[in-house]
Amino acid sequence: MTTRILVTGGAGFIGSHYVRTLLGPQGPGDVTATVLDKLTYAGNPANLDEVRDHPRFAFVRGDICDPELVGKLMAEHDEVVHFAAESHVDRSIDGGAEFVRTNVMGTHTLVDHAHRAGIQTFVHISTDEVYGSIDEGSWPETDPLQPNSPYSSAKASSDLIALSYHRTHGLDVRVTRCSNNYGHHHFPEKVIPLFITNLLDGRKVPLYGDGGNVRDWLHIDDHVQGIELVRTKGRAGEVYNIGGGTELSNKELTRLLLEACGADWDESVEYVQDRKGHDRRYSVDCTKIRTELGYEPRKDFATGLAETVAWYRDNRDWWEPLKGRAAL
Ligand code: NAD
Repeated sequence: MTTRILVTGGAGFIGSHYVRTLLGPQGPGDVTATVLDKLTYAGNPANLDEVRDHPRFAFVRGDICDPELVGKLMAEHDEVVHFAAESHVDRSIDGGAEFVRTNVMGTHTLVDHAHRAGIQTFVHISTDEVYGSIDEGSWPETDPLQPNSPYSSAKASSDLIALSYHRTHGLDVRVTRCSNNYGHHHFPEKVIPLFITNLLDGRKVPLYGDGGNVRDWLHIDDHVQGIELVRTKGRAGEVYNIGGGTELSNKELTRLLLEACGADWDESVEYVQDRKGHDRRYSVDCTKIRTELGYEPRKDFATGLAETVAWYRDNRDWWEPLKGRAAL
């Protein structure tokens, strides 16, 4: 039987990759995908060009905060994979209202209508940032949520609301918390595409503070693999961390990007004032998803980064119009 999946935020970076994969040759075949996306500055219809004419694809432009639309769509679907969010930390520092509206109110609208419509499975895509910052070791899923930015606080709230619908109403909610994603079609305000596109244009790259902040990098293919494992084999009411296994300081990452783009540190790097409340290090413990669902990141970082740089080199038409919309 065909499973009808509603994908919120499917015109963004990760959501569009999820949809392209789901409907691609490696996808399960027995699913339809309807994207619900407001097309904010981060949503890009071009991300869905590859599947636009696919017989099992549909696109609805709309807001996850719109109860009427959400109610109608829930009645027509079996499962939900929820990516839609305001996703950029720096923007949340400039103003958090839209983050609370979309991430908190929007998630509430979705789970509430999912419950009323009898949705079978609701996968809520969250982030490792909800745990806060950790100097040593890694967070298991049971660690307390101690978010620091308006973005991560709104995401943590959305996790709690989504999980409350499992505990209160029995809705099959599954939460994923992934580390920093990278890959093609990534909006050029985020560090990797921002640095690559600046370097390809012969411009400087802005390095925050002392460059010592550490992130774990996860290729979008591996993230999508993890989400599919959780959607198809995960358990109701459970949280699953998803990591990539490549921990780098921003300084180390910058070095690799300069090398890949043939640029020089002294000419290309500009130290800028640190982000307010900048989390020092994120690190998720992925034992649960590995042992329970067989997740294993497959993309080696050097290969993934080289492919990503090559994609930006070859796809100026995609990113050049977006540079003006980027925050930095
Ligand atoms: P993105 O900013 O590229 O895409 C977000 C999408 O949501 C856009 O297409 C946008 O138009 C849509 N959207 C925003 N507000 C909406 C609304 N009110 N109604 C309907 N659609 C709306 O984000 P992304 O990087 O693809 O992230 C997807 C999800 O993954 C987010 O929930 C984010 O918190 C989470 N996440 C991302 C990363 C990462 O490294 N990119 C890491 C951890 C978690």
